[in-house]
Amino acid sequence: MKTKIRILGLLSAAVLLLVCFAFKPLEEKKIIVIDAGHGGYDVGKDIYGFEEKQITETVAKQIKELNDDANIEIVLIRDGDISMELKERVSIINNLKPNLVISIHVNSNSNTMANGVQAYVPSNETFKDKSKEMAEIIVDKLVATGNLAKRNTTEAPFYLLKNANCPIMTLEIGFLTNEKDRNYITSAKGQNEIAAKILEAVK
Ligand SMILES: [Zn+2]
Repeated sequence: MKTKIRILGLLSAAVLLLVCFAFKPLEEKKIIVIDAGHGGYDVGKDIYGFEEKQITETVAKQIKELNDDANIEIVLIRDGDISMELKERVSIINNLKPNLVISIHVNSNSNTMANGVQAYVPSNETFKDKSKEMAEIIVDKLVATGNLAKRNTTEAPFYLLKNANCPIMTLEIGFLTNEKDRNYITSAKGQNEIAAKILEAVK
């Protein structure tokens, strides 16, 4: 009799375990917001006929296009060449409550030797560690392609970084004023590689 009870006990434990397993909630979808810097009347940097707003938009769209992971949703803040205030971008971000925001920009400097990829993160105590962790993963992946130099991730008081209630970074994917960077970030191959590496990093 005792053995029977023990077997029954074991069986019900096994059933319970199976039930728990079957009803385990699905892994929650990650929402990653990609903010293509500038847009519309705001072209951003405009150097040698290359417009920042166009580069950021192309890379943003490619990140979304390349994503085939059902657990990741890529949301583009602007999906076309439209003007958008920073305040509007922040309000979209804070309504979505995403896991991460990547605001894409390109850099420039009067010193044409200045080059490389750089991320800026908020100083906000709640989000700075996660932002920095993700920024460093992304920067390292981009640098590993051998096409971009590494610049240190730093905290910055940018409006978007200060006002978003989630991990966020401004990612400057290279310098339009540096010849090597410019050739890379304005080429289809370079833009595609940058998009693929950013996507790989957020998975
Ligand atoms: Zn910019």
